[in-house]
Amino acid sequence: MRYHSIDIGEGRYGVYFPDTMKLIKGNSATLMLLDKIISNESLEKIKEDGFLVSHEEYYNYRKMLGEGITHELPLRDKKHLGELIIHVSNDCNMRCLYCYGNGGCYNMKREFMDEETVIETLEKMYKIYPKIDLINFFGGEPTLNLNVIKAACAYVRANNKETILGMVSNGTYASKELLDIINEYDFKVTFSVDMQSMQDTLRPMVGGKPSFETVLKNFRYLKKYSSEPSGIEVTYTEMHRQKGISPADLVKEVRKIFGNIPMIFNPVSSCDEKLDIKDLSCFGESIEQLKGEPKLYSTTSFVQSVLLRLAEKNIKYQFCASGFGKTAVSTKGDIYPCQAFLGDENYRFGNVKDTLDVLKSSVIKKSDEMYNQNKVINGKCKDCYLNTYCHRCIHDNSLKTCDVGVSPDDMCEMQKDVFDRVIRNKLS
Ligand code: SF4
Ligand code: SF4
Repeated sequence: MRYHSIDIGEGRYGVYFPDTMKLIKGNSATLMLLDKIISNESLEKIKEDGFLVSHEEYYNYRKMLGEGITHELPLRDKKHLGELIIHVSNDCNMRCLYCYGNGGCYNMKREFMDEETVIETLEKMYKIYPKIDLINFFGGEPTLNLNVIKAACAYVRANNKETILGMVSNGTYASKELLDIINEYDFKVTFSVDMQSMQDTLRPMVGGKPSFETVLKNFRYLKKYSSEPSGIEVTYTEMHRQKGISPADLVKEVRKIFGNIPMIFNPVSSCDEKLDIKDLSCFGESIEQLKGEPKLYSTTSFVQSVLLRLAEKNIKYQFCASGFGKTAVSTKGDIYPCQAFLGDENYRFGNVKDTLDVLKSSVIKKSDEMYNQNKVINGKCKDCYLNTYCHRCIHDNSLKTCDVGVSPDDMCEMQKDVFDRVIRNKLS
């Protein structure tokens, strides 16, 4: 049984119960009472000590504190995949400085997926996972291979699958052909962008030319004739911080340009000295300024994500969905846990050209292994008050600590700082 308290001023506390993800307001007497309950003092003794607590309240506190909860993994639906990422292009027309795929090729040959491979991918993956929520076309830059995207969309719809179709694009290409795909297949588009001054430095074209004007023009063109792009992705780096741009400044500046559409905002995952953020306290410090900012999401804990996750009360047993909720297929048909592991032989699940039986048993076995990594009861996270809530990129973990299951200390401190500040803002 456990709790975490956050001082919200004037003798009041936010009390967070990690095992049940409940949040209440209390005072110092509440904390004393909880300590007594945790040390298994009886209700009678607690009353004798002067606490006015009813039988019902006493047992309610025990429940919130997590009495009897063991955090065994819930059974998972092995026929359901949240997101299938299909790398239709292993090349890109940009060279973003923070690209974790080495200019889109993931240290492999720069090439495109062919139509036969994409259809085989869909046939096999739908046999392994009859229900796939989202197919995300990815790269490199996916618009470099629109014909294969089109063939895949046609296959999905011809087979009456209810999967959402979409892509993450660098925004350098927009055309009538893309609009037709958007409108015919209800195809969702997310643009990766930055504010103007940083976009041209951090997200240049191959050869170094600036990209911002092209991306903005394409964004406006698609918006004029469709409901897309329906999302943007923004990455915060040390270079922003060095220029005095805080995470809040970046969110607000990008919003001024691209409007109030859902934004995924993440700290960079990089070991490059110039890009890896030296001091993550800027995230916590931005919280106050982003208090009312709507539609702002992050894979790390950041503003809206904290409140959403608390509202869902959905315990996160794993750091992220890599390998069991998400799976990526390379241009050659090799299957990996997610896009970040592309090309890493240690994480290859198989190839779509393998026989269905061989592929299925390998995918299920390896995705089980990833699902079974329960951080709530294991390793460094076991004793942390954020362990039922925390979300981390396991690939970033492996880059920074050489262990997918261990988050770097500065990232943990940042997550705790952001969490406590969001709770304080909400309750005070
Ligand atoms: S803050 Fe760090 S130790 Fe705590 S749950 Fe998250 S990753 Fe684990
Ligand atoms: S490892 Fe990183 S990129 Fe892959 S699913 Fe997890 S958070 Fe996303």
